[in-house]
Amino acid sequence: MYDHRKLGRELDLFDTDPLIGSGLPYWLPDGASIRLALEEYIRDVERRAGYRHVYSPVLGKRELYEMSGHWAHYHEDMFPPMDLGAEQVVLRPSLCPHHALMFRARGHSYRELPLRMAEIGGMYRAELSGVLGGLTRVRAIQLNDAHIFCTPGQAVDEARSALGLIAAAYDALGIEPVRYRLSLPGPGGKYVADPELWERASALLVEVLKEAGVPYQAEEGEAAFYGPKIDVQIADHAGRESTLSTVQIDFYQPSRFDLHYTGADGGRHRPVMVHRSIIGSVERAVAHLIEVHGGAFPAWLAPRQLVVLPISEAELPAAEAVAARGRELGLRADVADQGSLSARIRAAHLTPYQAIVGAREAAAGTLSLRLRDSRTLPPLPAAEALGRIAALVGAHRVDLWDQS
Ligand SMILES: [Zn+2]
Repeated sequence: MYDHRKLGRELDLFDTDPLIGSGLPYWLPDGASIRLALEEYIRDVERRAGYRHVYSPVLGKRELYEMSGHWAHYHEDMFPPMDLGAEQVVLRPSLCPHHALMFRARGHSYRELPLRMAEIGGMYRAELSGVLGGLTRVRAIQLNDAHIFCTPGQAVDEARSALGLIAAAYDALGIEPVRYRLSLPGPGGKYVADPELWERASALLVEVLKEAGVPYQAEEGEAAFYGPKIDVQIADHAGRESTLSTVQIDFYQPSRFDLHYTGADGGRHRPVMVHRSIIGSVERAVAHLIEVHGGAFPAWLAPRQLVVLPISEAELPAAEAVAARGRELGLRADVADQGSLSARIRAAHLTPYQAIVGAREAAAGTLSLRLRDSRTLPPLPAAEALGRIAALVGAHRVDLWDQS
């Protein structure tokens, strides 16, 4: 595995500046293009799975976090409040309270449930500067988050579907979890004291893991302050484990915010909140992708997907036309025409598709494709070659070519 901090800078994906501050990386164009592709993928799978997307602000009043319990249980990880006249606002430590308020602001019938609210949104953590570095310990986080408001009877199905989305995303990303963890509370006052809540939620999560057929290990002291969770664990280049994806069944926030819906009996009922994140924070996900793939990202994530290499200057117009056609199909494509052909192929070694255009190809309207793994394909009509690349990229495939 690679160290994402070193490779991320070598590949010009992200960097930091002492004047912006540590733990506050910025994304350069190639890194931003990976992040955009990832965010588009997530929004697309969420849309297909029945989620609706929202936006909410990264600030909230101190009282909001007193109500959510963050102030009492999570204060040390939060930025200090900012004084604004007579009130205090804080950078949010999670998206849950905003989403709970958005649910609460309108009346809901049981017919609307499960109501799946998703957002890729900013949140903040006051990490100490000593532990910051790269994209894994950051103070500003973009979280792929969602909250499903549902009846108690729907919670297991919703949580299990979320595990399915996580498994499908890992296939598309070409990554694998090291293990699934059932994170339970440990000793100490960090956790909400309500034994019945912990028992109910833990029992449901065990049911989810069993139904999904995933082996897991239970571990004390890793739960959220308000409830247990399923954590999907990954390991970095140094073998250090961290959590990428999570699924939680939460009875605590709905009661703190006094959430309710109208049941079939016309009465007031308390929904359950399923919190779930498919890829966790965008920063950590990209750090992991860099470490696993060493810059040779699955084609759908690659900053440059297709490079067109004219053999001589005479083929430059034909090469430009191929790259332009590729861009029209949604591909990130450009032409490399400076230097010897072998040097240009070497420079493009991380680009999944390399199209060589010589006199013969230019005259016949064909492309000789070379794949990043050094496979070369027989010449294909340019339109067919581009169409097949666009289809593979659009299907989020990790293999570079379909031999059939
Ligand atoms: Zn949440």
